[in-house]
Amino acid sequence: MARDPRYDVLFEPVRLGPVTARNRFFQVPHCNGMGHRDPTAHAVMRGVKAEGGWAVVCTEEVEIHPTSDVGGYIEGRLWDDADIPAHERLVEQVHAHGSLAGIELVHNGMAEGNFYGRIPPLGPSNLPVTTEEPMQARAMSREDIGDLRRRHRQAVQRSLRAGYDLVYVYAAHGLTTLQHFLSRRYNLREDEYGGTLENRARLLREVLEDTLEECEGRAAVACRLVVDELLGEQGIERSEIEQLFALVGELPDVWDVMVGFWPDDSRTSRFTHEAWTEEHFRGLKQLTPKPVVGIGWLTSPDTMVRLIRDGVIDLIGAARPSIADPFLPVKIEEGRLEDIRECIGCNICVTGDWTSTPIRCTQNPSMGEEWRRGWHPERFRPAGSDSKVLVVGGGPAGLEAAMALGKRGYEVVLAEAERELGGRVLREARLPGLAAWIRVVDYRRGQFAKLPNVELALESEVTADEVRGYGFDHVAVATGARWRADGVGRWHTRPPAFDPAVETLTPDDLMAGRRPAGERILLFDDDHYYLGGILAELLATEGKHVTVVTSAPRVSEWSVNTMEHERIHRRLVDAGVELETAQALAAVEGGVARVVDVYTDQERELPLDGLVLVTARLPNDALALELGATAIGDAYSPGTIATAVWDGRRYAEELDGEPHGDAVPFRREVVELAPLGVEVSA
Ligand code: ADP
Ligand code: SF4
Repeated sequence: MARDPRYDVLFEPVRLGPVTARNRFFQVPHCNGMGHRDPTAHAVMRGVKAEGGWAVVCTEEVEIHPTSDVGGYIEGRLWDDADIPAHERLVEQVHAHGSLAGIELVHNGMAEGNFYGRIPPLGPSNLPVTTEEPMQARAMSREDIGDLRRRHRQAVQRSLRAGYDLVYVYAAHGLTTLQHFLSRRYNLREDEYGGTLENRARLLREVLEDTLEECEGRAAVACRLVVDELLGEQGIERSEIEQLFALVGELPDVWDVMVGFWPDDSRTSRFTHEAWTEEHFRGLKQLTPKPVVGIGWLTSPDTMVRLIRDGVIDLIGAARPSIADPFLPVKIEEGRLEDIRECIGCNICVTGDWTSTPIRCTQNPSMGEEWRRGWHPERFRPAGSDSKVLVVGGGPAGLEAAMALGKRGYEVVLAEAERELGGRVLREARLPGLAAWIRVVDYRRGQFAKLPNVELALESEVTADEVRGYGFDHVAVATGARWRADGVGRWHTRPPAFDPAVETLTPDDLMAGRRPAGERILLFDDDHYYLGGILAELLATEGKHVTVVTSAPRVSEWSVNTMEHERIHRRLVDAGVELETAQALAAVEGGVARVVDVYTDQERELPLDGLVLVTARLPNDALALELGATAIGDAYSPGTIATAVWDGRRYAEELDGEPHGDAVPFRREVVELAPLGVEVSA
């Protein structure tokens, strides 16, 4: 199908100084947990985005020099010439599909402790680094400033040698020295680099001018700028940004604007809505003659068109929407909107960066696996046989397995016990703030409509005998998992003897609509991801008096990795939920809970009328065991929705393939050893 003319505007070329973006789709820089450690995997992932139609495809932040390293996090590096080949490979992949390759150069300064290189961090002022590391940034001397400018220039030169078409000057996300100099909060200097906005902007202006001079019309210069730090008077505010644009608004070839710190910029769907940035971006275009790119969890083509037509932005910035669907532009262009795999806003992708592991995505299981496992977001290897496959269970694992098998060309039957597809996603998407998660089901249901070789059998709870009778060549059992009601989890690895007189419910009970009869509810969260916090929120908003007891030091501890922790904490406190952190539920006796401090073993008693246990799950693997069939997803090993989707894809990819045996089941890059060099001094 041809594209709908109302989307034509999205496919207009945009001039970015000396280069031209072939359309308005701009994949802004984003971290991926691969960077300098997995350069080929990274390069191929970016190449797939270019293939999917993004006119500009950027790297993540790339360290320009060891005076600013991001320590344990795996970002890009361009410290010296040795780093150039990895970048050349990335550029080649992007150019192969006719897109522009952009590099985001960074000097993190006081945002990092330089744990790799051990060089004392630098910043505008003598202040602790903004992370929790026990380090201080040293106030930069004029010589330090000169060094930074020279090293940034050198990184620009190397970027050009690698073939980049667009080079960033980065002053955003609270992560860069250029922003720290700009910000009233961090810049306490009294020299020509501190005080007035003009002075605080001096370093940004100098680096912009240096970069423009180096690029000399060979590459565009982008400036990524925070347009409101969301710190009120303490930080950069709109009025200052307006002054700043008067000073440097004409310098870069394109402005890439954002709001707040990274957890603000990449806020999850639980706490935001599409185009939330619009109110902050309005009017910026009037301050500069240069094009403006902006993000805002933009997944809908109609919203994109509106933002362009309303003159809010010129280019559609996207990180997560391009991760969930690297082919989003191509699908709009080909009039295949129903094929768009919309981002659900869960930030599982972000956890790759925070855990220094290759990026993963709930919606797009091929993300980070393009080179490692040879998975493509849209293309599937043909079936290895004419086998017929039964997939039992229509949760995320079964949905993905059935869809991917169908796309490979197998004859597939997907049997689901319930009336509706979705499994846990169906239940969880009804919880407060998680409505967008239903897109995991929507996308796959939509694809089934195009796959005549996939038959859906709803309201079909199958037994082992029935399955044996059907005579399928392969059976994948995706029957999910159930929450335990016995308290076993991280803290109690054997069932504790909780008072049976106290009404006890599990997440499955609550999601099925049951509610505790009593008023004072103790929710024991020994799981530590989102579910405990969200169920506490649900019960509190329904009028219960809820206390969350969690063995972790923070509520919903693992959500630190999705950058949601602060917002979850605030929302629970606002809802009147009491938080008992680093406390475990030791016992429930005589209608009273005994809670133990996980560090000191000190015990306290808490009154309760009802108990909710969010501790651990048991796989529903009885059918798989009885049949000797392959269990996938939560039925094999309970995990996240992303894990289940990924496992469904893995099953489909590996069917009729060679077994891996003892070999590493994916490609990896092993560091080439350097010459041993000098003896260690005695
Ligand atoms: P996962 O996350 O691994 O996909 P879910 O719990 O989300 O697991 O989904 C499991 C699905 O399997 C549910 O929709 C459930 O109704 C379905 N199911 C469980 N047992 C059977 C069965 N015997 N026959 C058909 N469907 C089943
Ligand atoms: Fe979107 Fe979640 Fe995928 Fe990230 S992991 S791109 S937030 S669906």
